[in-house]
Amino acid sequence: MRTLLLSGGRDSALIAAEHCDELDAAITVSYGQPHKIEVDFARRVAEKYRIPHHVIVSLPDLGMTPEDPEVGARNLLFMALAKSLGATEIYLGANAADQRDFPDCRPEYLEKVQDLLGVPVKAPLLSMTKGEILDACLSHDILDMTWSCYDPQEGLEPCYKCGACRAEAAND
Ligand SMILES: [Zn+2]
Repeated sequence: MRTLLLSGGRDSALIAAEHCDELDAAITVSYGQPHKIEVDFARRVAEKYRIPHHVIVSLPDLGMTPEDPEVGARNLLFMALAKSLGATEIYLGANAADQRDFPDCRPEYLEKVQDLLGVPVKAPLLSMTKGEILDACLSHDILDMTWSCYDPQEGLEPCYKCGACRAEAAND
């Protein structure tokens, strides 16, 4: 079962758009993230691209905040969940900008997880910048189906201050 970790953000939505023919399943995790609104966006993306199985897994609050968005071993946990739910291949949206801020998005980390789980891990955006991902999302016309900001403001506006907003504004 080729399984995408689908957050509701631009990166994994782009993988859904570009690899939907290969994907059998998507997993979205609700873990007390301050931008839990992203789970609804993930649902829309899975529906749009007709990914056959979309599982939403609810975990306890993992303590993420807009100011401190790193959650220890988050990707390891999510990839292990995918394996336990039957994944034979795992796709995730790690990219060039993520690698700077999140150790569990770096290629050497993903290789270790791949060895540990015995499941191929595919990160097709690994060398893409946020700017390149933005352009690709625009070309698929999916930007308004995604949510990235960690700190949604009233009326569903991005905060333009958190790490996700800053990464997208920097476009690198
Ligand atoms: Zn923000």
